[in-house]
Amino acid sequence: MFKNVLVPYDESEHARSALHLALGMVGDDPEATVHVMTVVSTDIVPPALFSPAETAGVMPINYDAYDSMLSSIVEHAREEMHADVENDLGEDMAKLKCAIKIDAYLAPSPVDGISAYAADHSCDLVVMGRRGLGALRGMLGSVSYGVLRSIDVPVLTVK
Ligand code: ATP
Ligand code: MG
Repeated sequence: MFKNVLVPYDESEHARSALHLALGMVGDDPEATVHVMTVVSTDIVPPALFSPAETAGVMPINYDAYDSMLSSIVEHAREEMHADVENDLGEDMAKLKCAIKIDAYLAPSPVDGISAYAADHSCDLVVMGRRGLGALRGMLGSVSYGVLRSIDVPVLTVK
């Protein structure tokens, strides 16, 4: 039934459970794709911090260097995701009939990135952890809450 399933992934145990559930749902369907995607927030390093002299008003921020630094962080995140997912799925990966796409996406925030990715890739289901890597305990993490509020396709949250 679902052909493009998005699993927003932060390497937490909850996100791993979400990935296993998504693959259990559509893993045997050769027409389905599971998109495992992590969002790298553009606010990880504010431009002003990247160019410390700017804070003293001495030097303009070098945006080209800033952009290339962000690109290399995204590329690194993509490689790390590949290794993490391959390691987690092990031999099961070769048995999958569905396609699996592993990606890192640059966006202002995880919620923005997940919504944009889902729209860009026509995702018809989101399967995500109820919680993530955050230290605070509660029912629902802020990313899950934001996605539930902002996305129109069905969202399945997993413990
Ligand atoms: P908080 O971040 O509010 O302190 P938390 O870390 O426990 O709480 P969330 O961040 O909401 O909880 O994580 C819930 C789920 O959202 C994760 O299991 C994962 O599926 C997804 N998620 C969280 N952060 C990202 C991210 N940067 N990129 C992709 N998916 C993410
Ligand atoms: Mg979190």
